[in-house]
Amino acid sequence: MTKKINNKLNKLLKYYSLINYNLIYDNQSINRYKNSTTRASGNKGELLNKLKISIGHIKNCQLKKSANNQVFADGNPNAKVMIIGEGPGANEDKEGVPFVGRAGQLLDKMLSSISLDRNNVYITNVVNYRPPENRKPTPDEIEKYFPYLVKHVEIISPKILVLLGSTALNTIIGDDEVISKARGKWVNKKLGGCQTNVIASFHPAILIRQPDQKQTAMVSRE
Ligand code: URA
Repeated sequence: MTKKINNKLNKLLKYYSLINYNLIYDNQSINRYKNSTTRASGNKGELLNKLKISIGHIKNCQLKKSANNQVFADGNPNAKVMIIGEGPGANEDKEGVPFVGRAGQLLDKMLSSISLDRNNVYITNVVNYRPPENRKPTPDEIEKYFPYLVKHVEIISPKILVLLGSTALNTIIGDDEVISKARGKWVNKKLGGCQTNVIASFHPAILIRQPDQKQTAMVSRE
């Protein structure tokens, strides 16, 4: 998979990680969001904390009732690359951190193959509470969380937004899109006040089930 990374995507990601002058270096292999909230300086940190609290106040949400923890985000809030997955699974619900289970381990490997890690990306999900039995979030649930997701993107203001899987793709780009066709194509998109470059790829959970697709997962098609 590593060898097939498209030059353009690779160069862009490397470029944005290189110019990420706000990187914080520490001895931990993975910077969990719990540790990294303090790394968002001033206003950004405050806005993220406010957003997290307001998500905690969402009313009439079935997901919240059955979940153990809110899963807000992980990584570096000053990163140029923001990744959006679908929703927390059992491990994420337990730890309150996105992508810590098997799919998360594969995501870490994919990032590492292009010289990135959670120090220079920021990760969240379409919904912040675990859908029971790992089902997909319903359209109503997605709609409920959408304004918070847009606010999240606005606060992070990434140069590159990576959508993992069809739920993130359909939520951000639109319902007509099919992941197998849309993946790897750049779309310039305005989300709230944030104009950003969006690219979709297969969700790592799918890649675990269909390893043949790994070779296409990190390939830009332009
Ligand atoms: N799958 C997701 O989409 N998000 C997670 O946080 C974990 C698994």
